[in-house]
Amino acid sequence: MQGYGTEFLARMAEAGAAEWSLVMASPFIGSFLGLLIQRLPDAAPITRGRSRCDACGAPLRVRDLVPLLSWLAAGRRCRYCRQPLGWFYPGVELAALAIALAAVLIDGGQRAWLDCLLGWWLLALGWIDLRSWLLPDALTLPLIIAGLVAGFLFNPDQLTDRALGAALGYLTLMAIAALYRAFRDREGLGGGDAKLLAASGAWLGAAVLPEVILFAALSALAAAGCLRLAGLRLGIHSALPFGPFLALATWVLWL
Ligand SMILES: [Zn+2]
Repeated sequence: MQGYGTEFLARMAEAGAAEWSLVMASPFIGSFLGLLIQRLPDAAPITRGRSRCDACGAPLRVRDLVPLLSWLAAGRRCRYCRQPLGWFYPGVELAALAIALAAVLIDGGQRAWLDCLLGWWLLALGWIDLRSWLLPDALTLPLIIAGLVAGFLFNPDQLTDRALGAALGYLTLMAIAALYRAFRDREGLGGGDAKLLAASGAWLGAAVLPEVILFAALSALAAAGCLRLAGLRLGIHSALPFGPFLALATWVLWL
């Protein structure tokens, strides 16, 4: 443990200005991801920032919109109506910060930028699926293309493997979904999950796909176990969205 501690400290000391700017920018990216997570499923405009308090409608100023700091400074309440602000925005901002820190500490350099791009994108997808049971094409399809472009630019020798990964990822999950439908007579997995696994294949390559599915399935089982321990009864007809687990598995295996 101590070895890890000193290694992390050494890594932080080594990180250059470019890497620190990635960490500093991450809460702002998190703020934007929060807007995306809330508005994309409703097809509401994303480009207009958060302009009003959700509770009282008071217009928000710049000083109310600094990620994490405004929330802490105002005592986690709206400055105008004193309604508690909830954990949603600070939660997404903290998660985006954690992704940037992990990227800089584990990889650093040029690779840290790719880690963050993929991590933030998957964070938005997983969170949207958790809230609204949706994996919007507007996010999954560009992520497939981004994986292939990143392969083309940085690892041209892996491009075929990644293209194969995208195709196999899509087909594998569609096949599992068809089997599930045949045996259980209800939808278990959606087409969004198949596109997300295609994106996973486009970033990781075909050979890693079995590990992605295994990791995602095991973490979904672990989450179901935790919910059960917490007193929630999960029957055969209750379900968890699979997207967040696929997203987590993809990022962990990418790192
Ligand atoms: Zn308010």
